[in-house]
Amino acid sequence: MRYSGLKLFLQGLGGHRGWSQAWRKPTPKSSYDVIIVGGGGHGLAAAYYLAKEHGITNVAVVEKGPIGLGNTGRNTTIVRSNYMFPQNHHFYEWSLKLWEGLEQDLNFNVMMSQRGVINLFHSDAQRQSFSRRGNSMMLSGIDAELLDRDQLRAMVPLLDLDNARFPIMGGLMQRRGGTARHDAVAWGFARAADQRGVDIIEHCEVTGIRREGNRVVGVETTRGFIGARKVGLAVAGNTSRLATMAGLRLPVESHVLQAFVSEGIKPFVDHVVTFGAGHFYISQSDKGGLVFGGNLDGYNSYAQRGNLPTVEHVWAAGLSMMPSLSRVRVLRQWGGVMDMTMDSSPFICKTPVEGLYLDGGWCYGGFKATPGAGWCHAYTIANDAPHERNKYFTIERFSEGRMIDERGAGAFPWLQ
Ligand SMILES: Cc1cc2nc3c(=O)[nH]c(=O)nc-3n(C[C@H](O)[C@H](O)[C@H](O)COP(=O)(O)OP(=O)(O)OC[C@H]3O[C@@H](n4cnc5c(N)ncnc54)[C@H](O)[C@@H]3O)c2cc1C
Repeated sequence: MRYSGLKLFLQGLGGHRGWSQAWRKPTPKSSYDVIIVGGGGHGLAAAYYLAKEHGITNVAVVEKGPIGLGNTGRNTTIVRSNYMFPQNHHFYEWSLKLWEGLEQDLNFNVMMSQRGVINLFHSDAQRQSFSRRGNSMMLSGIDAELLDRDQLRAMVPLLDLDNARFPIMGGLMQRRGGTARHDAVAWGFARAADQRGVDIIEHCEVTGIRREGNRVVGVETTRGFIGARKVGLAVAGNTSRLATMAGLRLPVESHVLQAFVSEGIKPFVDHVVTFGAGHFYISQSDKGGLVFGGNLDGYNSYAQRGNLPTVEHVWAAGLSMMPSLSRVRVLRQWGGVMDMTMDSSPFICKTPVEGLYLDGGWCYGGFKATPGAGWCHAYTIANDAPHERNKYFTIERFSEGRMIDERGAGAFPWLQ
């Protein structure tokens, strides 16, 4: 069924009783050409692009719970491509371009809102490094703008520019950055993949990866063995666990990151704003809630919840930037488990096991990568070779000394 304004109107007249199921609930077949493990945005996007771009439709996405309840449904929804290193920013820019056409492509409202992302700076040295990042982006044709204090004052009036704990001197802005509705992205990819014949199998946990010699032949699951010639992993914080099932050890640590939502209030902040003197980022959802987060909890864990000292730390950073936040009440808080690489850049690659592919290592920045990562993962699986856009995101870069130490806008593994 195609969604449209007219369809919504007509369904409204009929009491909304005529909508069809957005995706089927199939029983797993005994084997597939490709199995993608993980029904988050990345896994569902890979399945969609396998079907759409490569005509590979005998595909299953195997998810241990309901789709979209991992990090895809837990993140602060920021989408941008303001990375410094070309290995990263070309990839993220491609992903942002996919975001810009995603709603038409999927026929699903993912609520993409290009409201602009502003990174604040607080010292001359930080201005230097931010302008270097902006210049690096512009040299690659990516939009970036250095804002002075007056421009900032006009755009974000509630910033405490003068009396804040760290004076705010300006900001680096990417106007095309913004936010998207996180779970709509999972639902949109799921529906579009299902329409092209992909089986989305929920409540089916992968408990083992079966190999014959060095070749993958399928996955053991809580619903039995499912054979496959190729298996792609897109399991975020569980990447090391799944890789271990295939006999691989990865340079990845699992960490907890928390997010917060306040009560709904009148328009407070129009952009995504990030604090440059600590770890804090904030935007406002369409319902009026302030959505914000900070740094990692600082210890390894697979628990999807966080600890109180981090809550205090995040709030302290937020209040340094916008003191009026002190009046806002927080409604909800949760944690997600992320897979952090030691250079803060991801993997989209083949692995040493034949037929096993990897999409992971996103730290706390993989939501923006969802369409781009799915596209590149699908390309790599279909061609058994990486595309130009993901050729640097290999596991071997660590043994070959070619790490991509993104210092512009990635995670900071060396601080944890
Ligand atoms: C609090 C928080 C805030 C964030 N904020 C941002 C942000 O603002 N912008 C941004 O770009 N990124 C952000 N991120 C990172 C981003 O959310 C992730 O990088 C991205 O969503 C990862 O998508 P995914 O599909 O790979 O993972 P997930 O959505 O986690 O999907 C992985 C799926 O694999 C399933 N799975 C795991 N093990 C198994 C198994 N054995 N068998 C079957 N299924 C399994 C899980 O149940 C899960 O559904 C944030 C993350 C967190 C936690």
